[in-house]
Amino acid sequence: MKYYSTNKNVPEVSLKEAVLRGLAADNGLYMPAQIARLPASFFATLAGKTLQEISCEVATALFDGDLPEADLQTIVCNAINFEIPLVKVTDNIYSLELFHGPTLAFKDVGARFLAQLMGYFTAGKNTQITVLVATSGDTGSAVANGFLGIPGIRVVVLYPKNRVSKIQESQFTTLGQNVVALEVAGTFDDCQQWVKQAFLDNDLQQALTLTSANSINLARLAAQVFYYFWAYTQMPQDADVVCSVPSGNFGNLTAGLIAQRMGLPIRHFIAANNRNDIFYQYIATQKFTPRASIATIANAMDVGNPSNFARIMDLYQNSHSDVAANISAYCYNDDEIGCVMQNVHRQTGYTLDPHGACGYEALRSYLQEHKNARGFFLETAHPAKFKDTVDNILHTDIVIPKKLQQFMRGTKQSIPMSADFETFKDYLLQTKGS
Ligand SMILES: *Cc1c(COP(=O)(O)O)cnc(C)c1O
Repeated sequence: MKYYSTNKNVPEVSLKEAVLRGLAADNGLYMPAQIARLPASFFATLAGKTLQEISCEVATALFDGDLPEADLQTIVCNAINFEIPLVKVTDNIYSLELFHGPTLAFKDVGARFLAQLMGYFTAGKNTQITVLVATSGDTGSAVANGFLGIPGIRVVVLYPKNRVSKIQESQFTTLGQNVVALEVAGTFDDCQQWVKQAFLDNDLQQALTLTSANSINLARLAAQVFYYFWAYTQMPQDADVVCSVPSGNFGNLTAGLIAQRMGLPIRHFIAANNRNDIFYQYIATQKFTPRASIATIANAMDVGNPSNFARIMDLYQNSHSDVAANISAYCYNDDEIGCVMQNVHRQTGYTLDPHGACGYEALRSYLQEHKNARGFFLETAHPAKFKDTVDNILHTDIVIPKKLQQFMRGTKQSIPMSADFETFKDYLLQTKGS
């Protein structure tokens, strides 16, 4: 399979190059040159298979000979080494619990697959790759844990001092080995700016092999395609199946659209936004108007310029009417999110996190207008990751899972860094090869 850039100003590349580069040289995002439509017989074979078996079959179809079958299977099984249960919440609403991985958020799936794939492509080479990742919380923990112990790769996590929760911070500052965390006396935007600047810096480019692990990387997206097939096969098949996705950068939703393009019979998608309603506005007005993000209680969705919008435009050849025919959009403010969490908790006993609450409510609204459908929403994080918020809203004292407690017992070993790029650059150059 070849992969092209959505900006179409550079030649197509191999999977290896797409994964190691992350972003194409023309600033476009990589997409597979073909998305093969699978025959009905393919779907008939999925019933009764495990998550790992289904993921392997979908990976084989998606990557079409990019690497030897046995190697691909090993990579998929190492990446997806935890369960993703589909839980019934009401008569017609199901929750796809994507939070049973090591850092309790769906980003584990893509980050682990990316780490395994990068490790595979660089194995036995004498070069060291430096993965840079700026984080406001969830991405850093998933990426750091995904890459932990992978030879030939060091991970440098940049995060804003005092602006991530203690739980989040513990998930990437206590690991050691090939993971270093830089505690920057600045904002998340500073951290992200440095990462961008590092890729443009000649000295760094000469001295290091740099790559990025943020959600523009095709490998992260690809692994997220697998669980849509898995979820679909778990759903009752006596009604149309629709799917609701709490969205920020729209990587998760794009993966669902790719699954559908491969023939997965999901009838309709629902994009759930918080107050950062750029996509909702696009559906309503046909205009895509990025703007600065605003802080909400569903903070992993606080994105003002969703990067994967370019991929959605590419899939639908910029046709607003085609996008709107297949995707409905809803948005919620913090008060509404809190009410949904309370109502669902009271009526069903199910504890939603603020992100999942957006997905749930958007699905419920859609189903009220479409009585012959059933749906699942993606529950993207464990409520304990947002314990303070959730306890506050539900008046609960939710239990922190053992996995999270372990991180919190570890010793913080981050390196303080003043907010200027030169200090960061010197650090990267001095520690190269370590
Ligand atoms: C990253 C994240 C999202 C948003 O996912 P996108 O693929 O960026 O749309 C939603 N919920 C949680 C918990 C996240 O960490």
